[in-house]
Amino acid sequence: MSDREQVVELSGVVKRYGNFTAVEPMNLAVEAGAFVTLLGPSGCGKTTTLRMVAGLAAPSAGDILIKGARVNDVPIHKRNLGIVFQNYALFPHKTVFDNVAFGLKYRKAAKAQIAERVSRALDLVQLPQMADRFPNQLSGGQQQRIALARAIVVEPDVLLLDEPLSALDANLREGMRVELKKIQHQLGITTIFVTHDQSEALAMSDKIIVMNQGRIEQEGSPEDVYTRPRSEFVARFLGNSNLLDGQVTARDGNALRIAVEGLGEIQADSEGTEAPQNGARLRLVVRAEKIRLSSTPQDKTDATRLTGRIETVDYQGQSARYFVTVGTHSLQVINPIDRRPFGQGAEVSVEIRPRDVVLLKPE
Ligand code: ATP
Repeated sequence: MSDREQVVELSGVVKRYGNFTAVEPMNLAVEAGAFVTLLGPSGCGKTTTLRMVAGLAAPSAGDILIKGARVNDVPIHKRNLGIVFQNYALFPHKTVFDNVAFGLKYRKAAKAQIAERVSRALDLVQLPQMADRFPNQLSGGQQQRIALARAIVVEPDVLLLDEPLSALDANLREGMRVELKKIQHQLGITTIFVTHDQSEALAMSDKIIVMNQGRIEQEGSPEDVYTRPRSEFVARFLGNSNLLDGQVTARDGNALRIAVEGLGEIQADSEGTEAPQNGARLRLVVRAEKIRLSSTPQDKTDATRLTGRIETVDYQGQSARYFVTVGTHSLQVINPIDRRPFGQGAEVSVEIRPRDVVLLKPE
């Protein structure tokens, strides 16, 4: 744990709608300057959580703190937040300038200060020349930037973003996520971001909170949740995973041998997890890009080497995605392409390193 200030804290926060619990007791701490993402499938409670931080929904139980002060009863406009929601549209009858100036006018800032700060915010989102336009004279991407400028111009304690990029087309979205992250970093602004898009979450976050059915499944750095999923849900939701069932046949410290029916014996490394006993049944996760295909076996002493046959090839430019038949299994593999991808029907050596085998308890 670092000793940075916690800007947002949720303590035992619950949200019920009648008999339905949308958010189970939730604890969460967001450090100053951090970019924290709530990631999960539709209906998992991420928007509800964000709405409670915003003051748009009242928690059924628990406390929400901003900069150490309990805000459960503080209305939205007194929480000093910047908000960009998918449906938080710009005011159509106001110019870009007046849209961005809105929060400052509300706070009764001086005219000169408003002009200066709006101009700085428009510079930051790289639309300095658009001040006199109306929202309907802007592209979707430009509108989204103005919404961001409107949110950050008031120098909020927390920036709340709910799928702010989802209305943009794929190219624009990638560009905007780089810019959004850059601006967030430049301003050092504490941010909570909601998305169901795993690549967005991985690319932008300091910390990802994976949610499922109103609960936190796992939280950690993007690398942590990606490479060390602790549940099948997280393994499936983030990335392309192969899930296998096996039984421990031998154990020497952290080095395990695991028999996978229909596949053969796999070597795994239990470092960082609770070492399973001999005979224990386990669920294994192997990421598609952690499996190495080669035409001839490579001389890596600790890797499991299996033999497979290419079933399908999906050419993706720099990489290819294969389904490879190994025993009775069909493994998904994503590998960079050296010269040309393996052809359908080719026999290949399939290598899996022990440390790339993630061990889960069977569910
Ligand atoms: P999405 O990505 O689809 O927005 P989400 O993870 O943000 O999903 P929430 O909007 O937080 O999900 O909703 C969580 C659950 O709470 C859903 O099952 C939803 O139907 C329910 N819910 C949300 N708002 C209400 C409401 N006002 N009344 C009743 N149920 C609600």
